[in-house]
Order: sequence, then structure tokens, then C-alpha cells
Amino acid sequence: MTASLDEARDVLRRTFGHPEFRGLQAQVITEVLAGRSAMAVLPTGGGKSLCYQIPAMLRPGLGLVISPLIALMTDQVAALRQSGVAAARLDSNIDQTERQETWARMDRGELDLLYVSPEGLMQPAMLDRLRRTPMSLIAIDEAHCVSQWGHDFRPEYRMLGRTADIFPDVPRLAVTATADARTREDIRNELRLLDSAEFVASFARPELALSAERKKGAGHKRVLELVEARPDRSGVIYAGSRDGVDRLAEQLRGFGVPALAYHAGLDKQVRTERLEQFLEADGAVMVATIAFGMGVDKPDVRYVIHADPPASIEAYWQEIGRAGRDGDPAEGITLYGAADMAWAYRRIDGREMEDEVKAVQARKVRQLYGMLDGTSCRAAAVRRYFGEEGVAACGQCDVCLSPPASVDATEAAQKALAAVHRMGGRFGRGRLVEHLLGKTKDPSDFEAGLSTFGIGREFSPQGWRDLVDQLLFDGLLKEDPNDGRPLIGLGAADDVRAVYRGERRVGLRQDLEAHDATTRSGRPRKRTREAGMAVPPADQSLFEALRAWRRDQAASQHVPPYVIFHDRTLAEIALSKPVSTHALGTVSGVGEGKLARYGEAVLGVVKGFVA
Ligand code: ADP
Ligand code: ZN
Repeated sequence: MTASLDEARDVLRRTFGHPEFRGLQAQVITEVLAGRSAMAVLPTGGGKSLCYQIPAMLRPGLGLVISPLIALMTDQVAALRQSGVAAARLDSNIDQTERQETWARMDRGELDLLYVSPEGLMQPAMLDRLRRTPMSLIAIDEAHCVSQWGHDFRPEYRMLGRTADIFPDVPRLAVTATADARTREDIRNELRLLDSAEFVASFARPELALSAERKKGAGHKRVLELVEARPDRSGVIYAGSRDGVDRLAEQLRGFGVPALAYHAGLDKQVRTERLEQFLEADGAVMVATIAFGMGVDKPDVRYVIHADPPASIEAYWQEIGRAGRDGDPAEGITLYGAADMAWAYRRIDGREMEDEVKAVQARKVRQLYGMLDGTSCRAAAVRRYFGEEGVAACGQCDVCLSPPASVDATEAAQKALAAVHRMGGRFGRGRLVEHLLGKTKDPSDFEAGLSTFGIGREFSPQGWRDLVDQLLFDGLLKEDPNDGRPLIGLGAADDVRAVYRGERRVGLRQDLEAHDATTRSGRPRKRTREAGMAVPPADQSLFEALRAWRRDQAASQHVPPYVIFHDRTLAEIALSKPVSTHALGTVSGVGEGKLARYGEAVLGVVKGFVA
């Protein structure tokens, strides 16, 4: 007997406490309930996990979830148990006793969901056991990891195609948040899902206001400004290096911002503590490398700032996507520079990969900077990148709000390109600008004799620097990092020639100064909806009391607070002040399991606040 969508909705309501399916959830679940394999691409926060959790609970047998990260599994299993779902995980952190117990529960058919890593799954003992266990489905989370065309290839994911042969009768569901068209095709190929349905949701995140600006000067001054303009908000700041993370966090603390540093160089215990602090504190700021994030489902992050740019548009969307998961307004702000782009190319060049893969990865870098430095709506550019058609401008990114004007700078570009050519690519940007202005200190006879020496007095030094940046982003110049003393050389020969001939025009963005995620007064831009939780002042103290209760619960159970209840749910309780179990049960996020477990305690807290 195939379970119906009505039954699935019933589980959604009773177990998870949500009134309705969202987006493509119902379609994906219908497919899997019918025993068919599928691939689903849903944006971060789109509710991917329910797409396999609910069918696993309704179909007979064990639902196997393959996930790349222990932190991800730990969180999901903890959250499922809170809702009364029979879930377990087997990973390298699980001791022998617990492992035995999990095996036993599996043998007795008691488990609905089992989380494993790809390596764990492929162990002969594990495969052996699973072959003897009736299974409801196999879910492959973060499925983009299977593709080398994606942005986060993991060789151990490659083996997962074998699940098709090993478990031919078990439906498989591949889910991911970010995959462009080519990566999607590759996933289906690798995981043998070519004949299966593909569900691709819109990549729109209307709650996110995006902006990007070129870095000005070295250091983190701009980041400090941005953070100071957003007091008491929870934020994540990504920096490119561990060292950068440590320094930035320290600077922020110097300004009284409760900033925490997080990167893979820190002790595991320290990382765990800081993660817990970040999840619990109001307005905490996490400064981190990309080691932080996957699986961190903190719903009320109000901004993500890239102090250094991400590695690709996929990474951008995933990292920025950690803001505003509760659906309330949030911001994504990216700082980027031509030097970052040069390093990105260089890193790809130094990796052990086939040339074709390198070329694809290099294109991803180009597309990222094309979007960051571009003059069209950012959200629309990202969505087009993921293959969406007929996308309208978002109306709230920096480009939409103040479209950058551009002036024709073809002639100046010709001069700069000629100068680089004459100077033989042996100098950096500073020297190039001095050369154009004729201001080089003690120029050699060779240099002073070049026809390009001092031909560019029409621009200020800053004007020339902006133009050089522009030419770098356009690929007309390229930068060789040269171990920290970058040299400027000519870019693609055909393109450069087209500029010389005047066939290709070069536009220079004018209002780089005005392009700003904060207004000049340093205050955040006016938004239509105020960013943050909507708890009226009158209910604030009840909200805080509920949070304090949750903090104690979380601490005594050693789970993150949001697996008990999300802020959103607590806010709704503070607002509606339910006095009966029945009323409490109607709040979104309160399922039967949690009602039974926490109902009385929550009603007790509320009681203290109703007259
Ligand atoms: P992701 O797609 O990023 O993995 P999750 O599966 O973690 O997203 O879900 C994101 C959040 O949305 C979770 O807190 C989950 O409880 C919530 N959620 C999922 N589906 C629904 C729904 N139908 N209605 C309300 N909230 C939902
Ligand atoms: Zn826009």
C-alpha cells in the first residue's frame, strides 16, 4: 500500500508542527512515496530534509541518509529525536556500545532513519547488514559533492553511484541546494538518476538584500563599519584565512562587538563551545573561514558579510544563504578585489586536476567576479547562473537601488594596455599608475623613453587604479600574484586587440563611492520591512523568558537551542500567549512530540505573563 500525500501532510502537522508543505516539497514527497527515485534542488532553508524524512517515516523499512559532515548528521538526528522520530547516526564519533545498540534497533525494524557518511556506507560490514535490512529509501544529501563540475567535489561521493546496483529496488533521492545545469546533469549521471524526475525550485531568496563593493585599501576598516552599523544583530563574517579571522574577530571585540573566531585551526572543544555561544547569544557575530557553516541551521542570522569573496557563485549562494533562514529580511554583503580574483585563478592552477576541470573551475571564478563587479541585478544574475529563465530584477540589491552609471573609458584603456605592453608585464599596479601619470621616481632611461610615459594625465591616481581594476575584471589585464608582489600583464590577446581597434568599448563604473551597503551616515539602508524578529515591546519579556527556559533545556540535553524550538516559534508563542495545550499545538513548529514533552513547561512560562 502506497502512502498518500494526505498521510504525509498528517505527519508534517503532527510530528513537525507545520501546517502546509512549502514549494516543491509535496511534489518531491509524492514521487518518493510512490517508490520512484528523484533529484531535488531546493534553495537553502527550502526544507530539503523533510522531503526524505517524511517518506522514510511512512514507507516500510529503514530510510538511509548519506551526508558528508558529522556536524550535519548530529544536528538532524538531535532535531528528529526532539520530534519523537526514531533516528540514529553511525559515524566515527559513535562508540561501540551505541553502535551495537543502533544495529540491534535496525534488526528489530525500529529505526525510521539512519544517517551515515559515504565512507561509512561503503564498509563491507555496513553494506552486508543493509542488504539484509528492508529499506524505505536512500537519500543522498549535498548531492553536488558527487560532481567535479560542482563547487565542492568529494571523491568519496563518487562511489555512491553503486547504490543503484546494490539496492536496485530502493528509491533514491538526491538533494542539494546549489547546482548549475551542468552539475545537475553530472549528478544524475553519476548517481544513475537519468530516468528519474528532476525537481528544481526557484533560487529566489526574496528576504535577502544583496550588495557587493570593491575593497578599498588593505585591512578590515570597512568590515568594522558595516558591523557597527548593524548593532545587536546576529551575523556571520567570512574571511579567507585563519589569520585574517583571528585578527578581524579581535578588532571587532576591541569595538565592543561580541565577535567569536572559528576556523579549522582551533581545538575541537573550542570550536564546539564557540558554536554553542553563537547559537545562543543575541546579536553574536561569528567570524569564520568556510570551515564554518554547512549544517549550521541558525534561523535568525541577519547578515552575512564576505570580508573576502567566496570561491564561486555556488559557494556565494550557499554562504549568503545562511542569513535569513527564518524568512525575515536579511543582508548579504560581499567585499572583493582584483587581487582576490588573481589568487583564485592561481589556486586553481596549482591544483592537481585535469585541464578540462581546471577550465571549468576558472570559468566559475570569472562568472563570480562578473556578477560581483557587474552592473545588473545581483539576485537575477545568480538565478540565471543556475539556469532560471525569465528572471525579473529583485528591486532591492545595491544595483537595483542605485544603478551604477558607466562612462566610456576606451581611450584611457588603450593607453593603459599599451603601457603594460611596453613595460613588458614586469611591474605592479602602483608602478603602472605612476608611469601613466609620468610620476615615476627616478625612472630609468628605458622607461622615461617609452611613448606611454606620462600619457595619462587626465585621470587621478585613484581613477587609474579603478580603471586597472576594471580591466582586470574584464580579463583585459591579468595579475600574476608573484608571491605577494603582483605583476600586471596583458589578458586574452584577441580581446586586447579588439580594444586597440576600438571594436570593443570599455565602460568604467562611475559611482563606486556611492555603492554602499550602508548610507554615508553609517546607518543601514532603509528597508521596507525592519530586519529582525517581530516581537512587540510588550511581549519582549515573555519572549526572553521563553528563550531562557529553552537555554536551560538545551544545556541539560546538550543540543543546540533551535532543535528544541526555533526563535520563530517562541516569538509566535509570546505573541499568542496560549493557555491550553490545544492552543499551543496550533503554533507552527509545535508538533505532537514536542507538545507532549514541553507543553506543560512552556504553558507554565506563559502563565507567569498573562494577567
Ligand atoms: P534545507 O533545505 O536548508 O536543508 P531544512 O530541511 O533544514 O532546509 O529546513 C529549513 C527549515 O525550514 C527548518 O527549520 C524546517 O523546520 C523548516 N521547514 C521545512 N519545511 C517546512 C514547512 N513545510 N513549513 C514550515 N517550516 C518548514
Ligand atoms: Zn536586484
